[in-house]
Amino acid sequence: MPGLDSPVKFVRGVGPQLSEMLAAKGIQTAEDLLYHLPFRYEDRQNPRSLDELKPGETASVIAEVRGSALLRTRRMPLFELTVGQGRHVLKCIWFHATYLEGKFHAGQTVALYGKVEPSRSTSNFKMIQPQFEILPDASDDAETRLLEVGRITPVYESLGGSRLASRWQRKVIFNLLDAVRGNVLECLPAQMLGRLDMPDRETSLREVHFPPEGTSLTQLQSWATPAHRRLIFEELFFLELGLELKRRRMRERAGIAFETNNKVREAIREVLPFHPTAAQKRTLGEIVTDMRASSPMRRLLQGDVGSGKTIVALQAMLVAIENGYQAALMAPTEILATQHFLAARKLLERSSRKYRTILLTGSLDEDRKRTNRGMINRGEAQLVIGTHALIEENVEFDRLGLVVVDEQHRFGVMQRFKLMKKPNQPEPDVLVMTATPIPRTLALSLYGDLDVSILDELPPRRTPIVTRRVPEERCEDVWDFVRKQVAQGRQAYIVYPVIEGSSDDQPELDFSHDEPSAAVSEPASRSARTARKGKTADLFSSISGQKPTPKIKGAELKSAVSMHEKLRTGPLKGLRVGLLHGRLDPDDKEIIMRRFQRGEIDVLVATTVVEVGVDVPNATVMVVEHAERFGLAQLHQLRGRVGRGAAKSYCILITGQKVSEQAEERLGAMVRTQDGFELAELDLTMRGPGEFFGTRQAGLPDFRVANLVRDRALLELAKREAETFATAKSGEGTEAERGRVWARLKESWQRRYGLVEAG
Ligand code: ADP
Ligand code: MG
Repeated sequence: MPGLDSPVKFVRGVGPQLSEMLAAKGIQTAEDLLYHLPFRYEDRQNPRSLDELKPGETASVIAEVRGSALLRTRRMPLFELTVGQGRHVLKCIWFHATYLEGKFHAGQTVALYGKVEPSRSTSNFKMIQPQFEILPDASDDAETRLLEVGRITPVYESLGGSRLASRWQRKVIFNLLDAVRGNVLECLPAQMLGRLDMPDRETSLREVHFPPEGTSLTQLQSWATPAHRRLIFEELFFLELGLELKRRRMRERAGIAFETNNKVREAIREVLPFHPTAAQKRTLGEIVTDMRASSPMRRLLQGDVGSGKTIVALQAMLVAIENGYQAALMAPTEILATQHFLAARKLLERSSRKYRTILLTGSLDEDRKRTNRGMINRGEAQLVIGTHALIEENVEFDRLGLVVVDEQHRFGVMQRFKLMKKPNQPEPDVLVMTATPIPRTLALSLYGDLDVSILDELPPRRTPIVTRRVPEERCEDVWDFVRKQVAQGRQAYIVYPVIEGSSDDQPELDFSHDEPSAAVSEPASRSARTARKGKTADLFSSISGQKPTPKIKGAELKSAVSMHEKLRTGPLKGLRVGLLHGRLDPDDKEIIMRRFQRGEIDVLVATTVVEVGVDVPNATVMVVEHAERFGLAQLHQLRGRVGRGAAKSYCILITGQKVSEQAEERLGAMVRTQDGFELAELDLTMRGPGEFFGTRQAGLPDFRVANLVRDRALLELAKREAETFATAKSGEGTEAERGRVWARLKESWQRRYGLVEAG
């Protein structure tokens, strides 16, 4: 009697050889096989008869093969199959399908699933490239016939070639379900299932594979049957429960209980350059509450680009410093670290107290590093700003109280913070900042081991950014526009997808990973539709609103290096044009960036190095060439570089010749809205959660049955249930049931997520 945990090779119909093929797909146990769910279902219980088909619908049909032929047309081989029911016939066509030759014989029964198309030749319809399956005939065993026809039939993605295709899986899974009947251990308390109106585990597994008669096909196709929901919930519940426990464990550790007295408040007041927004006050309040508690803080501060996270973090750092501790801020790049360093030093100069702020990055010379390390180690530097070097260069803080870290570092460094403090010191507080506007509920669930604060308000006096698409043929107008803006004292960015050359294989080095690093500002309401007046406006509207004109031949990918040269000596001659990309020497990068910040460069030609966090309020124009090649997250992030001051800003997306459908959708969204959350939702839907978050980056597991976009509501439910379950000492379920939940948790975290001890 096999249990769900027995190796898959012992499952009837599998054996050692096939089990190796299955292992390649991550299927190791009987359970894994059962959690490989059908990706769709065919109604072979009530298939459509040929005379009732309507063009445009997608239908299941069971009919008899009348004839088939491979037609060698001039353009490609076409395989044509004719099936019939009485006097009605249906033609099916597959392109390039030489492999189908000889597969069908007159008299066979086939199941077909596809879209019904009108056909010109006869009054009958046709299907183009339908899914098909040759059904068993009388010579097949009764059991097989039972699984294939006269029921709602599950269709599986193949687990390896035609051998492990749908039919094989149906049979093996059917037998397996039979073998484990009455033996599938429930992993959730019966009371919980009853309350949530969800079927038990065994029933759910059986019904997702072999739905009972009368199950709604619509619900099945969208994975919304009670059985599906139960299995999805189960997976999400154990994810959330694991995250919840991690959070609780952290709360039990010894941290620092900071004090916030008048002295601390006064210190903050002295340096604050403006009135914080309500959202800034609220989030700081949340952070400070954590800091005052004796358990270590693990908090995520999420806010759109430009929402003012930096000043919130700086205030938190002052709390730590005024309590006699050191604070560290870790930025993702040297440019940003330097920018933060200069800004922090300037702010702290306003204070009557003496703070020592130092910078530690990899490119400092060795002497300088040694001196800085010494100051950190002896506690002479209170505020330390740096890059990854803070971890890599063996820095040991004297009394580390707070670490503020950019999201991009989170997963690489969370466990290594220990290295930054002296062994006998308490656990520092950690604040993670992110500009990725993850929808709130999703953030709460995904970062389940962090508490989440959201900055959902922008500082006052921002003007909306006008976004336009412009076809490459009209770029002369764009350069004119840039010149006019510069003449008004403004600055511009012009961004290219590659550094040099014209091929795709040399993406910008610093940010070649396609991770969402941030988003956009301003609410959508005040967006691009606002009418414009005056000369600039007229000109601007003249280059916008144009549909992209069809391709010109022979143009290739423009690069930052070549366009810098071209623009400098051509259309932008006479302006001060700088060049910034990831292959420059760190010193040069810094020099360029500083000159741009000081207004000594008018136009910065760059790659996506300017993507993250760069803050130059006087820059009002962001031109992105080959905008079709950038991801949505990247585009918002780039647009977020402008609109940071009071002047009206513009984002001009120049598109090249080939714009895919997906790119069209991205560009359309950019023009339509500036709401980072809306764009993030779209990005999430377009790319799917795996790519959106980047499994590695988010530390996200690959789900077996859940899908974060489709199952958002179940995710929230699972989180609530997990919290309640973890809280209640003797809550729902018997002791044995609760014991099984914990056992299952351990096992699933070990096996599925491999995250058991992630800090
Ligand atoms: P981000 O959240 O993207 O890191 P920053 O912290 O860089 O945003 O802030 C964006 C800009 O807004 C900065 O120039 C900052 O000085 C300014 N700023 C932040 N908070 C306020 C505020 N309450 N009032 C006015 N300006 C603010
Ligand atoms: Mg910032």
